[in-house]
Amino acid sequence: MKMKRFVSVALTVLMLLPILAGCGAKTEAPAATAAPAATEAPAETAAETTAPVALAEDVQKIVDRGVLRVGVKNAVLGFGFQDELTGEYSGMEISLAQKIAEYLGVDVEFTAVTAATRTELLDSGDIDCVLATFTITEERKKSWDFTTPYYTDYVTVLVEDASGIKTLADLKDKKVGVSSGSTSAKALVKAMIEAGVLSGDGFDADSFDPATWTDGVSFAQYDDYPTISTALSAGEVDAFCVDKSILAVYHTDGRSYIDDKFSPQEYGIATTKGSGMSELCETLITGWLADGTIDALIAENGIA
Ligand code: GLU
Repeated sequence: MKMKRFVSVALTVLMLLPILAGCGAKTEAPAATAAPAATEAPAETAAETTAPVALAEDVQKIVDRGVLRVGVKNAVLGFGFQDELTGEYSGMEISLAQKIAEYLGVDVEFTAVTAATRTELLDSGDIDCVLATFTITEERKKSWDFTTPYYTDYVTVLVEDASGIKTLADLKDKKVGVSSGSTSAKALVKAMIEAGVLSGDGFDADSFDPATWTDGVSFAQYDDYPTISTALSAGEVDAFCVDKSILAVYHTDGRSYIDDKFSPQEYGIATTKGSGMSELCETLITGWLADGTIDALIAENGIA
């Protein structure tokens, strides 16, 4: 084992001592195997003074595998963006994923996800966590764990200038393209109700379904954002609604945002409910919020 990786694992173990002590899903591995790096540590290193600690079973599995598998976006500039030529990923969420892997002393592997696929991939175990402009909602918290938010965005609407649409009121009776599995349609209807554009009769936040909503605005749902952008150019939809961070790459010449932005979207890392990964990610994110790491990543990526 390389020194760098050893130090990284030892740091993680030290950092997690408080939460691991109280963690239910622990492996019963003996001390020698619980923190793999410790078995190969030179006698004079910090490992000698590190108490035997068991990693949560799911986190241990990642360490044993040597790879942290993360679901990320591949077309959201500043968050998760893949260079088509080099295949390289960049953005704040990419850096955060790399830092989690670094703490575990493992490599990182990215899987491009969409709003529609990210939870399936997490549930099936294909990925260990999701860092993909994933908005924390009460409803989603019933199915997955989310960390404290690392970024807050807003929802807005992109239109072709030629449409003349400039405000929420102008969206009355229009057809709006949204991504399946996203918060966008509900956020827009709520904003239109709050702005007095729609009456709100028949709106129930818990049972709202973009596929059947036709009262004053309607929706077409797509699997990915490039397809919505194409649909907007083709006039298949009158507007494209989602978080401003996601819309940025589609904001090309001849297109504009409407004047309104609404519905704060707090992004968190999503993990399997009750997992060791949930505790690990929460500890790391709160630490990085407190020590300025997250602010620095926001500034570096030009997304302040
Ligand atoms: N952030 C929003 C959501 O989680 C928009 C969808 C997306 O992230 O792709 O629903």
